[in-house]
Amino acid sequence: MNNEHINGEAGADTAADKGSRSHGDRRNSRGQSQGQAQSHAASNEGSREQRSSRSHRRTTRHKTVTLEHKRPQITPEGQGEVEAFSKPRTRNASKSTAGSRRRGAVKRNPSATLKIIPLGGLDAIGKNMTVFECGDDMLLVDAGLMFPDDDHPGIDLILPDYTYVLENEHKLRGIIITHGHEDHTGSLPYLMKDLSRKVPIYGTKMTLGLIEGKFSEHRVKAKLAEIKAGDEIKLGGFIVDFFAVNHSIPGAVGVFMQSPAGNVLHTGDFKLDQSPIDGVHTDFGALARFGKIGVDLMMSDSTNAQNPNFTPSEAEVGKTLRQIIENAKGRVIIASFASHIHRLQQIADAAVANGRKVVVTGRSMVQNTDIARKLGYLKIQDVDLIDAYDLKGTPAEKVVIMCTGSQGEPLSALARIANGEHRTIQIDEGDTVIISATPVPGNEKAVTRVVNSLAKIGCEVYDKKRAMVHVSGHAGAEELKLVLSIVQPKHFMPVHGESTHLRAHARLAEATGVPARNIFLCENGDTLQLSESGVRFGDPVESGIVYVDGLSVGDTSKDVLEERQALSNYGFATIAAAVNARKKQIEGVVRVEMRGITGGDVAELRREATDTVKGTLRRALDKGAKGKDLDKACRDALLSLLWERTKQRPMVVSSIIEL
Ligand SMILES: [Zn+2]
Ligand SMILES: [Zn+2]
Repeated sequence: MNNEHINGEAGADTAADKGSRSHGDRRNSRGQSQGQAQSHAASNEGSREQRSSRSHRRTTRHKTVTLEHKRPQITPEGQGEVEAFSKPRTRNASKSTAGSRRRGAVKRNPSATLKIIPLGGLDAIGKNMTVFECGDDMLLVDAGLMFPDDDHPGIDLILPDYTYVLENEHKLRGIIITHGHEDHTGSLPYLMKDLSRKVPIYGTKMTLGLIEGKFSEHRVKAKLAEIKAGDEIKLGGFIVDFFAVNHSIPGAVGVFMQSPAGNVLHTGDFKLDQSPIDGVHTDFGALARFGKIGVDLMMSDSTNAQNPNFTPSEAEVGKTLRQIIENAKGRVIIASFASHIHRLQQIADAAVANGRKVVVTGRSMVQNTDIARKLGYLKIQDVDLIDAYDLKGTPAEKVVIMCTGSQGEPLSALARIANGEHRTIQIDEGDTVIISATPVPGNEKAVTRVVNSLAKIGCEVYDKKRAMVHVSGHAGAEELKLVLSIVQPKHFMPVHGESTHLRAHARLAEATGVPARNIFLCENGDTLQLSESGVRFGDPVESGIVYVDGLSVGDTSKDVLEERQALSNYGFATIAAAVNARKKQIEGVVRVEMRGITGGDVAELRREATDTVKGTLRRALDKGAKGKDLDKACRDALLSLLWERTKQRPMVVSSIIEL
């Protein structure tokens, strides 16, 4: 992997709209380390051997989904009531100076054990979900999803297998959501439907606003409890502190959990932006305070661990956008992640500063703009907004269009605009298009396709390669080390990344002084047990993936995926015939149909195929073959013919009916 790729991946903020597209590297972390990483492997050898003797229960399942869709619109200011979320009882709501607060402490119990069980998020950047369980109390941190790639034809979404949560539902005291990105919230609607009671969901106002929108589409009712950074709440035997982190979405928090067995710090997704758009910095003070109380285990965002520097500030993007818009002649169209509210704010500010109106288009872009404005996270005045349907008559050089489609999605607003298929927005030579995002690995081709269609029209296209129109929302190596140095955890577990990211983060932790034997490279389904005597691996739990598919087909999903792949790669043939087995003869015609097979549309091959099947069928009948044997004989004969002629093995379905 080259650096470019990694930066791209990290910068993709997969989080935002699209999950990671990487699925490789799934179960290969053990014993394949190189260089410095060797020491981790070696130092954890004991626990590793002990662990590998236990087998993980890996699962794949299917789910179906029905959604309620309304055409989203932006509500004018002052209209559209926002229902307040319930507020949990916090222990510090009235005090404002961090130092003077009397915080709670959990009484330590030498015989208590805290289990930390990642159910997702360690094989890819996506579907984050971690269980924290101590005695009869269980917390869940994040409940995300992942978007499928070319390996999953026809699959809509991928969720982590959360069977363990359902099996221990009676212990579940609350679900904590660190921020509103799909890789942290996406499986919530499914989880809520599967739970038999309404477990409260804790998140900041922005996070809950996005979750609420999702729930109304899924027609899910839930108990949403709003917390703020700086709050401390009690959940069963846990005391949970929330602290502000800076990320590519407003309202992101990290969590510090104190349990009778020990304390865990989970950073959530973060970066250390020193000049944040909304003025919210990652809370160094809180990190230092938790460090002082004692962090037995720290879990931290590994997305950009291979990026050697500091991630640039979001403000840098604003400067670039302003410049490009200032110099633009015609329309300006900017595609970005719909949840990147800071980016949307900067786009809007740059538009207004240049005397342009803002048009918002694309379903998720309109929805999120609406939610963020209602909740006060995004400030665009009504006079500065034009509905895409009222655009007629506004000169091209007076608008900036914010749209979806930064990943080249074929049905997105940008792709429609580029293809001249958008209902209200057109594009002309001399217009400017900015792709204010990084393609998630796997989406590069699709993005290039859209960029090329735009170039053909004669547009000025800016992407990350040409100007700083995007920065990542995740901390680079220097930032990660800084946080590790402040917190000084006893044990460390890198999270949120593929194996390579986790290993890179482990090396950083070691460099800051965490002993190699105290660094735990885990896989989904592993259990870490934290107690007074330290951290060790426990028994793995059932884990895996759940496919969400419009046409659910039960438990055979892996076979089905393989079939879909065979279909798309090699095509499909059917054999249909009726026979009289008693008389040993074929009744009527033998039909062979071929679709997507090289030469399948050539009369000669079709004739040859039919003759081959006919001959085979006759011989089989002569030998007294019946039922499935007839099907198999025909299938094998056709397959060997097609292999001979095309060197491919398409899917062949034979239905020989016995009269
Ligand atoms: Zn994330
Ligand atoms: Zn995120």
